[in-house]
Amino acid sequence: MMENKREIEKVDFETEFSYCPACGYKNGFHNMYRKTEEDGVLSWFLICPQCSKIYDIGLTVKR
Ligand SMILES: [Zn+2]
Repeated sequence: MMENKREIEKVDFETEFSYCPACGYKNGFHNMYRKTEEDGVLSWFLICPQCSKIYDIGLTVKR
């Protein structure tokens, strides 16, 4: 799947991650999920709607 080849940037932040560090877009992010090795647990990534950069701020979600 093409999606797996897109680069995902890990980010660390002080108190808030609310805008895209790459392009400055500040109206929130789209979401992307990916299966992990752990059963039922997904990685939860944030996608900038403007420049399409993908960020990993360490979120996971269980379904
Ligand atoms: Zn952006």
